[in-house]
Amino acid sequence: RAPGLLGGLNSENAGPNDLRGFRVKLVLLGDSGVGKSCIVLRFVRGQFDPTSKVTVGASFLSQTMALEDSTTVKFEIWDTAGQERYAALAPLYYRGAAVAVVVYDITSPESFSKARYWVKELQKHGSPNIVMALVGNKADLQENREVSVQDAVDYAEKNGMFFIETSAKTADNINKLFECFVSHRDFPLDGEIQ
Ligand code: GDP
Repeated sequence: RAPGLLGGLNSENAGPNDLRGFRVKLVLLGDSGVGKSCIVLRFVRGQFDPTSKVTVGASFLSQTMALEDSTTVKFEIWDTAGQERYAALAPLYYRGAAVAVVVYDITSPESFSKARYWVKELQKHGSPNIVMALVGNKADLQENREVSVQDAVDYAEKNGMFFIETSAKTADNINKLFECFVSHRDFPLDGEIQ
């Protein structure tokens, strides 16, 4: 099984807020081909369908997540669909984002190094309180693994990020990825979240 969630976030200064009842802008970042669209499709539609590319340019899908206490969180998920190359898009893309999900492919060290680049970009352009998750996707391809869990954990901890490995193909940890944000209690509830 893919490794589960790890800490890495400081709960000492946790505020009174969590995401129940809120609308949350979540941006996806990562190399082309790591599985960003497939992760979203798996979460939103419960399917794995690599042929249905829904994303053309920067677009978003929303998904309302029902919680056990019968409240909801509505994620507005932004997927760049490769447009992240255009620097001009960055300020608009990051604006108001409470959550950033940075995805790499566990079989591709290049995509891991690209993920580290995106984290730096987020640290530069994102809200200072943005909550970041590092996601190693394609965890079903264990035999082709080229990025170790330890390297990813070390990096995530150093940068105060959640870390999780997922598989959009098998659905492993996909819901868990989104659930982890719900219970995080120190969100910046400002900007476009209302
Ligand atoms: P994006 O460019 O980051 O949006 O990547 P896509 O979602 O288009 O996925 C790129 C390719 O990776 C697709 O052909 C998928 O079949 C494949 N893929 C995505 N997620 C997984 C996964 O979890 N496991 C495996 N084995 N393949 C995946």
